[in-house]
Amino acid sequence: MSHVVTSHAQELTTARERIAETGRSIYDRGLTFGSTGNISVRLSDGRLLLTPTNVAMGRLDPAALSLTDAGGAYISGEKPTKEAFLHATMYGAREDAGAVVHLHSTHSVAVSCLADINHADVLPPLTAYYIMRVGRLPLVDYFPPGDTALAKAVGKLAGKHHAVLLANHGPVVAGRDIDAALFATEELEETAKLFLMLQGKRTRPLTPAQVEELRDRFPS
Ligand code: ZN
Repeated sequence: MSHVVTSHAQELTTARERIAETGRSIYDRGLTFGSTGNISVRLSDGRLLLTPTNVAMGRLDPAALSLTDAGGAYISGEKPTKEAFLHATMYGAREDAGAVVHLHSTHSVAVSCLADINHADVLPPLTAYYIMRVGRLPLVDYFPPGDTALAKAVGKLAGKHHAVLLANHGPVVAGRDIDAALFATEELEETAKLFLMLQGKRTRPLTPAQVEELRDRFPS
């Protein structure tokens, strides 16, 4: 029993450090700003460790992160992000998800505001890494922040997609662990940047056959 308690405590400590490190890294690189963005980790007992509301990702206190139950209900620490429901919804729909990252990163948000995008799959298959890390990216209709209808809309897509883009808002990305969620979020942001750079230029995305080959070789 004491061994189990120790390993749970160790897991929680490691998760706290990883979230704070990740927050600092994305803040320092301008992927998040002000008090926007939030990160969470699902612990092996199902509890969620989340970034608190109204804090800059660049100066997270590992000891002050928010602990909730699997559904996002408060247990301890600072009050969790107002967007905790986005995280709980992702975890609810994805058994394999161990971490979720949500950002208001500029290029992804810019793409989420474009008029003529494919709502079923927002970005074209520009590179192999985009297909391998993100895959298909559906657009979730706009709802005001905190609206429970937003959670429902995300929940409908989350079972089939580990990454979704909230219209006029930003991406929500789940991964097996914090690195997987972060790398996919970064790949999405860079691809959004490429997509914007290529607007108005004749572009040669990967062909459907090239995309299929990648999906067979690297099933997500
Ligand atoms: Zn947000």
